Formats: sequence, C-alpha cells, structure tokens
Amino acid sequence: MNVSPEFQPYVPKLIERNQVYAAGFDDAELQVQPLRQLAVVACMDSRIDMFEVLGLGHGEAHIIRNAGGVITDDVIRSLCLSQRFLGTREIVLVHHTDCGLQRVDEAEFRDQLAAELGIKPWWSLEAFADPYEDVRQSIQRLYMTPFIPHKEHISGFVYDVTDGLLHEVRLGSDTR
Ligand SMILES: [Zn+2]
Repeated sequence: MNVSPEFQPYVPKLIERNQVYAAGFDDAELQVQPLRQLAVVACMDSRIDMFEVLGLGHGEAHIIRNAGGVITDDVIRSLCLSQRFLGTREIVLVHHTDCGLQRVDEAEFRDQLAAELGIKPWWSLEAFADPYEDVRQSIQRLYMTPFIPHKEHISGFVYDVTDGLLHEVRLGSDTR
C-alpha cells in the first residue's frame, strides 16, 4: 500500500483521452479472431506495451496478462477459449527482467497476509528469482494441461527492460 498521499484518481483524464481516441477510431472492421492466430501471455508490467514490443497491430493477437505472466488456471481458461473458439495456434510467453515478483518473498508474503487478515491466500503469488527459469516452468505447465489442444508452437522469452530486447528461452538449457 504505497499509495502516495497526493493520489488523485486518473479516471477523468482517461475519459477525456478516450474521446480523443474514439474521434480517430479506425478499427471497426477488425474481427474477433486474431489475424496472426497468436496468443501472447505476458507480465502486467506497466513498462511493456506488448503490441509495440512485438510489432503487432490491433486485431492480430490475444494478449493475456497477469503479475509475472504466469500460467495460472485463469490463463489456461483464456488460452482454451483462444484456441478452441477463436482459432489461435501459436503461444508466446513473455516474462522480463526487474519483475515485481522478484522482489517478494512468497513465504513472508503469505505469513504477512495471514497475520493481518486472519486468512491465508488460497492462491499462489508465484514469486520467482530467475525469469528464465520461470519461463521454463510456464512452458512446462502448458505442456501438462489437457485443456490446450495446440502445443506445437510454444515459445518463451525474457524481455530486458533496460534495452527493449527479447531473449529466447530454451527448455532444458541453462544458457542465457
Ligand atoms: Zn513483471
């Protein structure tokens, strides 16, 4: 809870900006099925614009995001829909350096919540130390789930927040 004392809600500004956006709106012809048959799972980090990083246009890919870009049940839910109903065939995972989840100790976090709230979270925070290892874990989870039918084209990357470059992660290798 590091909300600064001078916090001001940003919504009025957002509504203003949306009106500017809608005035130049040009996407009415786009279809619900992503054009590149691609689904991207990425961290929610505010420094990363997935469309920009991957050179994608609107309508070209599903972008599924959460803290860490972790493969959770809810991500599997989204990927299941993405492949079975909306035609995607390729999955790209993007984790990154300097992730917020690298700064948290999972056990401490759980104890803190339990002490403060009287209840332990029933979900895992999915804190991690090494983003490369975390991508490998996530790829393994995709291979393990029965709910994702198309697994022939799964790639994983670590995005470097200091230079904007993606580094491909290979399964079973420790090289970076
Ligand atoms: Zn992150």
